[in-house]
Formats: sequence, C-alpha cells, structure tokens
Amino acid sequence: MQCLICDSLLSDNGRDYVIDETMFRIGQSFRYRECEQCGSINLAEKISDDTKLYPDNYYSFSVDPAETFNGFLPRLLASAMAKSSLKGNRLFLGFMFRYAPMREVRTLASILLSISAAYSGSVSKRILDVGTGSGVLPFVLSLAKRSYTLGIDPFLATEKKAKHFELKQASIQDIHETFNLILFNHSLEHMHDIEQSLAHAKSLLEPGGTIIVRIPTVSSQAWDTYRENWFQLDAPRHTCIPSRKGLTQLASSCGLQIMNNYDDSTDTQFWLSEAVAKGLSTMDATTGYTAYLTNTHSRQKKRSMKREARKNNSEHRGDQTVLTLRTT
Ligand SMILES: [Zn+2]
Repeated sequence: MQCLICDSLLSDNGRDYVIDETMFRIGQSFRYRECEQCGSINLAEKISDDTKLYPDNYYSFSVDPAETFNGFLPRLLASAMAKSSLKGNRLFLGFMFRYAPMREVRTLASILLSISAAYSGSVSKRILDVGTGSGVLPFVLSLAKRSYTLGIDPFLATEKKAKHFELKQASIQDIHETFNLILFNHSLEHMHDIEQSLAHAKSLLEPGGTIIVRIPTVSSQAWDTYRENWFQLDAPRHTCIPSRKGLTQLASSCGLQIMNNYDDSTDTQFWLSEAVAKGLSTMDATTGYTAYLTNTHSRQKKRSMKREARKNNSEHRGDQTVLTLRTT
C-alpha cells in the first residue's frame, strides 16, 4: 500500500493508529498508518460498501444555500462577501472570519479569504469548486455576478444550472473544461487518488490559473495534543491527512509551485476535539457542541481558545492550512 501523498510504500514499521468514526458514532473504528517518509497518516484498510459514509445529514449536504440566503439581509451580506473575495479585498472578510457570530459564516469567510489571497489583479471568470457539497460556495459567488462557478460532488443529489453557477454530480476526473481557479475546500483528503486528482486539476488550468487547497494537516499542535481524538481525522472519510512535508512533495510531483501558504485554523480544533475525547459525536446537535455559542465553555475559555488558534496559525502549527498553487 502506497502513501496517497508522497507515493512511498507504507512499510510495516510505520506507526499504526486505531481511530473511531466520530461524526455519527456508528460504532466502528479504522486503522491508519503513518508514512515513514513524509509523516502523513493514511487509511490502511478497505471500507466495506455497507458503511454509509455520506448520509443525507452529512454536514456539507444539510444546508440548502438558496434557503439559507433567502432573506434580504443574509443575501446582502453573502453578496458583499463574495464581491470582496473576487476583488481581492481582505479587510471585510478578515473581520467576518474573526467576529461573525455564526460558525457557518466564519467558515464561509475563511473560504472566501483564500480566494482573495489568490487574487492576482484579474477577475477569476471561471471557477471550479471540487467537493462542493450542497453548493454553498458556487451559490454565494454567483451573488456577486462577476464569475461562473461549477460545483462538483460525486454525492450531489440535485443538479442545478443557472447563469452564474452550476452544480453537477461528478468527480474531478469527469471534468474536461478549463478554469481560472480550482478550489479543493477540505475535499482532497476525501479522495482515493489524491495525486491523480491534483494533477488532473492542473491540466484543467487556464494559463496563469490558480489552484487553492484547504486541508487539515497532522503537522499541527492539535494532532500532537489530541491524537486519536483530534476531530479533523474524520475516520474513515479522510483517506489521508497530510503532513506539511508531504504537501510540498505532492505539489512538486504534480508540477505545481506553492505561491502562498498560511494556516486558517480556528478554536474548533480545541473544543470539538475535547468533545470527541468525551465520547460525543461531532454532529450530534443535542450535545450543543456543534453550536459554539450555546456550549458551556466560559467566555474566558472561549477567548483563550481563539487566542491559541491565532498563535498556532502564526507559527504554522494550526490544524488546517491553505495552499495557493500555480503551474511551475
Ligand atoms: Zn508519505
């Protein structure tokens, strides 16, 4: 078995981890092996077809964007965020990432911030969102009316076509049109052919085009601290959680250059991993843990977790990172 990131053989000397499925607590655990060469953690067993990995209440599919942004104010806000992102304006998005009261809005802001960071003076006219879920990002970007975004997901239930966005049930390998910007928002780590998928994405780039990868990483304080309870392991949906060394090797083996790299981890790395350690499910709404504002941590603890996340990001020790890639 090969490491999905650096392609070296996963030897028997590599350290093994047994990791519980914690999103739905289906009562199964899965074996992962550390790559001795690059340090990435790879799923080391076959998943049976009976394991329903992406049920209807899987978080990326449970939000209907048209419904969420139906009201005047949410739509106005989302449209302003999309315009800021496509113009490369970071101030407003940075504010939303830090202070928006809803976690979903902060997450959206961090995705839009990654797009604005890749902005190079020209508008990204054609955007591909790989692993789009229910299509929140293509929908939000369409509100700016400046671009066309195709959202693809192999588990998409309803396809959609509008002027500024489209949603298709597809994998990256099914796509043959070209794009100015291709996004992997926490989707690359779900694939069984990571290197081939990234290499194929590269072949779809217009000249001067950009790929953005947002991905969890084991080169982080959260992995070192929480290990099997780190919530971003997401066994067995994540086929591989890369190290930073592995990501550098992956980019270079795909003929891509890392133009920019920063961490955008949040306080979630602490409180959700602590919830997992207590045996809770990351999706169980009744625990109150999925709703950060209604959980029981003191204000002081919340403030210190946010501070700790910012410190981790500044030291490249956050539990998720953002890579901007261009053709070498
Ligand atoms: Zn490796």
